[in-house]
Amino acid sequence: MKWYTEVSFKVRLKIESVITLSFLYLKQKSRCHMNRAEEDYIKTIYELTIEKKQPLIKANELSERFGYSDQSVNEMIKKLVKKHLVSFVPYKGVSLTSKGKDVAIRMVRAHRIWEVFLTEKLGFSWDEVHEDAEMLEHATSKHVLEKLYHFLGEPKYCQHGNPIPDFKNHMAEVAVQSLDQLKVGETFEVLRVLDFKELLLYLNEQNIKLHDYLNIIEKDEFNGIMTILCNNQRKTMSIKTAKMIFGRIKK
Ligand SMILES: [Zn+2]
Repeated sequence: MKWYTEVSFKVRLKIESVITLSFLYLKQKSRCHMNRAEEDYIKTIYELTIEKKQPLIKANELSERFGYSDQSVNEMIKKLVKKHLVSFVPYKGVSLTSKGKDVAIRMVRAHRIWEVFLTEKLGFSWDEVHEDAEMLEHATSKHVLEKLYHFLGEPKYCQHGNPIPDFKNHMAEVAVQSLDQLKVGETFEVLRVLDFKELLLYLNEQNIKLHDYLNIIEKDEFNGIMTILCNNQRKTMSIKTAKMIFGRIKK
């Protein structure tokens, strides 16, 4: 390479350092690179930490949320510990490291901002946005995301009632009271639902939306069924489903 030997030593040094730096960057990037399942875990650990208001999440709480076996959850935890995203306290559970928390906040912020865009501006319904928001969250620079956030009027919540962390990592309150814990006679405002397609389709079918009031008429713990009044209509719901709906008890 004639040109290379001709350029001054100083310039060569610069070129070499740029190359070295980009290699280091790529190496770093590939080390941080996470697959979809790993990202889902990070996000879920983050959400459970906030929902349960406790720093440590037990493996069985994760397997319950995902419907995976304890063994596969434990294997995933080992992988995440290796990547310094999660720390593990034997017999107590897992928590996100500050690196893991940063990653989680960045992902949920982008995801929820895109959900607001897709539903409010493009007219998608709440059961249709998860997959696209998932793809878009990875393809968006911080700059674009910030613009989009302001364009949308700095929304505090996504369509599922999940709070959107702002760019200083502050976020609005998250509803943590789940519907299954209510007693007969109590009324509850729906403020958040889990972003599970089957659940959202069920809620569409039952015509239950955020900010609807649900009144508990009967609770059959043995059979795991609740009878609820919503918009003057009686509905039956399994307690398993009620665990995925969160809100506030009306005083
Ligand atoms: Zn959402």
